[in-house]
Amino acid sequence: MRVLVVEDEAALRDTLKARLVDAGFTVDVAQDGEEGLFAGLEYPLDVAIIDLGLPKLAGLEVIRRLRAARKSYPILILTARDNWQDKVEGLQAGADDYVAKPFHFEEVLARLQALLRRAGGWATPELKCGPVALDTRAQTVKVDGQPVELTTFEYRILEHLMLRAGDVISKAELTERLYDQDFERDSNVIEVLVGRLRRKLDPHDQLRPIETLRGRGYRFALARNQAPPAAAR
Ligand code: CA
Repeated sequence: MRVLVVEDEAALRDTLKARLVDAGFTVDVAQDGEEGLFAGLEYPLDVAIIDLGLPKLAGLEVIRRLRAARKSYPILILTARDNWQDKVEGLQAGADDYVAKPFHFEEVLARLQALLRRAGGWATPELKCGPVALDTRAQTVKVDGQPVELTTFEYRILEHLMLRAGDVISKAELTERLYDQDFERDSNVIEVLVGRLRRKLDPHDQLRPIETLRGRGYRFALARNQAPPAAAR
């Protein structure tokens, strides 16, 4: 999952970035509203964290312009502790949730994960499709109740595919959202990882959880054990 952090306080920005990378996110950062707007418009993001008090362009204005440009990924705003007007205005501008400063990182992470789940049409932190169950909090995967050991990148690919189970995800999208800019963007790497993931989830080639659509990408093909809400995405 690729997240943008727009925050002008350097220490906070660095901390957020480090903790989010630890939590498995690919992280882009911006230090003012103009940079944030540019990154928000140009990068292939899954979610954004935007501080409201920003130099050059206010956070509220960044959000309004992103939404006016039809960017629909979830946005979490950072607000001052006792400023309820900020929260209301932020939500009205198009943000999806807020965290008041100072915050515990765990709260930011829990809210981000909830926003990503809901954007994918999932109501609970455990994503279940047929016999495959992925727990987004513990970052664990089970098939028929048996734990499956995945590497970090295998897990990230599976989480991305399962969050949007039923949708076709291109190789380009997987590469852009799962790797930092400095990683060699080779779609063969994705093919190899998907191949390994298939063998781990489905050693006897019976489930066929991940479908390849020639020239288009991959789709997590097992039906969700929970109907997506009508208003999803
Ligand atoms: Ca600020």
